[in-house]
Amino acid sequence: MSGPVMLKSITISGKAPGPKLLILGGIHGDEFESMWTIRRLKEALDPDELRGTVTLVPVVNEAAYWRGERTAEDGLDLARTCPGKEDGTITERVAFAVTALIREADYLIDLHSGGLICRFYPTVGYMLHPDADVLECQRKMARAFNMPIVWGTYAGHDGRTLSIARDARIPAIYSEWMGAGDCDPEGVDGYYEGCLNVMGVLGMIERAQPPSRIRHTVEDDREGAGHIQLNYPSPFSGFFEPWVELMDRVEPGDVFGVVTDLLGERREEIVSTQSGHVLVLRTFNRVHEGETLAAVLEV
Ligand SMILES: [Zn+2]
Repeated sequence: MSGPVMLKSITISGKAPGPKLLILGGIHGDEFESMWTIRRLKEALDPDELRGTVTLVPVVNEAAYWRGERTAEDGLDLARTCPGKEDGTITERVAFAVTALIREADYLIDLHSGGLICRFYPTVGYMLHPDADVLECQRKMARAFNMPIVWGTYAGHDGRTLSIARDARIPAIYSEWMGAGDCDPEGVDGYYEGCLNVMGVLGMIERAQPPSRIRHTVEDDREGAGHIQLNYPSPFSGFFEPWVELMDRVEPGDVFGVVTDLLGERREEIVSTQSGHVLVLRTFNRVHEGETLAAVLEV
């Protein structure tokens, strides 16, 4: 198959004028909370009470979804492939289609999770945008989204939905909620409430903001920050035995766990070089060399 990809989307137009909000789920095919959340939003949003337009895409990466994996059969990470190509591989064409949708929007929310292989403590993030107005708007959206961790990171990475939004000066946030192959109902509730909260602060619906449950707000402009795939790579292919849990406090020298070969003859400890909390932890024990085992939120 080739040719343009048509994303399955739902647009709800309010009776009153207002901004255009785009909410994306399933950029990765194994991140399920996002997909369920977006269908709930479709049921809940009432055009009579809405100012502006909401476009909902529950499953952007449908080819990956049907495989039950993070990526489609070409193995490309959609979140590293934007703006894609009109006539490329399946992931490149999906990237091209989602890029066009983002460029039409005024605001973007991109919902993720840890997928099949890891858990990611509930987090809302944004790029530390060079434009002060865009950055301040992203901070406001992220606070309203109301996850325990609010994380602003380096704005220079390309290929992501947020990179397309950055270049078009569209305020954008993303979120993460656990993973390990689950679809956590608490995550669906959290994402649903978070999206409505953001619509509230953008003036698209009437909504009283709930009490904040933010525990840590971290802004980290270093280039590696926010690029989870660069953290603590497995030194060889084998089995990861985790010794810590999400949000455990670690200091330099603390051990996240051990990678062992199948007979347990070769063993290598994975040692923290940072001080902070375990934000991401590998849960799928079989690892290949170079795959990420953990990430730390430095506080
Ligand atoms: Zn994802």
